[in-house]
Amino acid sequence: MTRTVLVVDDSVSLRQVLAIALRGGGYDVLEAGDGAAALELLDGRTIDLVISDVNLPRMDGIAFLRALKGKTDYRFTPVIMLTTETQQARKDEGRAAGARAWVAKPFQPAQLLDAVARLVRP
Ligand SMILES: [Mg+2]
Repeated sequence: MTRTVLVVDDSVSLRQVLAIALRGGGYDVLEAGDGAAALELLDGRTIDLVISDVNLPRMDGIAFLRALKGKTDYRFTPVIMLTTETQQARKDEGRAAGARAWVAKPFQPAQLLDAVARLVRP
């Protein structure tokens, strides 16, 4: 069964890079430009993994992560935070909120696909 990955980033070009890499890896891709838009996609549909930027308009990645973990349908959905953020405090916040991995931008698509494959159910 095809797995679905939700990509949350305010950069259209970065979402395109991610979507191309993920579709190339055999995943279906959903996209959102900020945390609030991503939250609207959590309507009960199957989402196998989320890749989210930290710095986002309207609702940042950490707030989105907390909201996702508060939803019964999605509390076990693995989340990879994608960020240029190097401050340890933000990582600790993300980890406390349930982030499973961090991938720093700029990233190699292969590196990201490795992280996705490790976290998505087989
Ligand atoms: Mg951003």
